[in-house]
Amino acid sequence: MPSDITVHWDWIGQHFRVKILCSLAGVATQILVNDIATGSNILMDVGDGILRDLISLPRTHYDNIDTILISHGHFDHVGSIFSLLAFFRMLNRKKRLNIIASPNVIELQGLVRTFQESYEDSTPFEYEIIEIDSEQIVQDIIIKSFPVKHRGSLIGGDELPKIPAIGFSISKKEETIVYTGDTGYFELLKSHITCADLAIIEGTHEGEPSSYHLSVSQAKELGRLAKNHLIIHRIPEIHD
Ligand SMILES: [Zn+2]
Ligand SMILES: [Zn+2]
Repeated sequence: MPSDITVHWDWIGQHFRVKILCSLAGVATQILVNDIATGSNILMDVGDGILRDLISLPRTHYDNIDTILISHGHFDHVGSIFSLLAFFRMLNRKKRLNIIASPNVIELQGLVRTFQESYEDSTPFEYEIIEIDSEQIVQDIIIKSFPVKHRGSLIGGDELPKIPAIGFSISKKEETIVYTGDTGYFELLKSHITCADLAIIEGTHEGEPSSYHLSVSQAKELGRLAKNHLIIHRIPEIHD
């Protein structure tokens, strides 16, 4: 039965539609990318409140999440992967689920391992963490990753523990969506964003940027290199 819930997409292209389900720095980021022709969905990052976000959509949209991309292991990007896997188990999902991430995202590996150890014999769907080197092809969609400059990331500085942090580009035919993940500014970022049909760019700080996050004005400037852009990952108001 068709759902009467209307989805308000944040961007609609030729092949993809995008909905920013939530994006608040230090709270949660999750972005749904819908392949219009096939109905298959890619979920980029899985922060807190993912289930509340998903159940506001027609069920077909979360039944059809076939691929999850994880930009890095911070809790606001990966913390609810356990809940999502358990939710799919509860719904008796049968379809395979691919979770694509850098090698050595220890938070992701730990959460998925805990789910696996808890429900090994009673999970009706297959799932796997696929470590992306630089490119992964899912059906006719090309997913590429690129390293970014985040706190503790591989190119983030010597004094911090080295953890992987990546951005993604997702392409189908001539259409490309770029997602920066969390990152500070680095020169090569411009080339990743240039000419994208949609760039989803973090713009965490209102004023000065930090080494590991962009400011809103930096994000806007980068956004002008793409055909369209959305600025995400703003700092939420925290009340005393
Ligand atoms: Zn974040
Ligand atoms: Zn982060």
